[in-house]
Amino acid sequence: MDCIFCKIANKELPGKFLYEDENIFVIQDIKPLAPLHLLAIPKKHIESIDHLTEEDKDLVGSVIMVAQKVAREQGIDQTGYQLIFNVGKGGGQVVPHLHLHLLGGWKNN
Ligand code: AMP
Ligand code: ZN
Repeated sequence: MDCIFCKIANKELPGKFLYEDENIFVIQDIKPLAPLHLLAIPKKHIESIDHLTEEDKDLVGSVIMVAQKVAREQGIDQTGYQLIFNVGKGGGQVVPHLHLHLLGGWKNN
């Protein structure tokens, strides 16, 4: 499939991995919008939050738990962070493979 995040998941394209398990991986965003900008991504190709079905409930819960774990590892749990799902073109989604933005690391927090 011609999908950037599927290709990164399959190691057909490079990515800076901070976490990987059977179902989920976390990479650095290529154009960071914060001192720390990561993407937590399910390996399963789901287009967006709007395309979730009941069977994806556990997977999406795990994506959030992985973001929490990586935020703690990166030491931004004390200062706080943002988790963002962009949904659809009007919602700012450019890559049509579900991903959770993890943004943080700003100074003076
Ligand atoms: P969105 O606007 O929610 O679809 O976000 C897509 C994000 O993916 C943007 O922040 C891009 O900078 C990021 N991105 C696009 N291509 C890559 C890539 N090859 N590796 C890492 N991040 C990427
Ligand atoms: Zn995909």
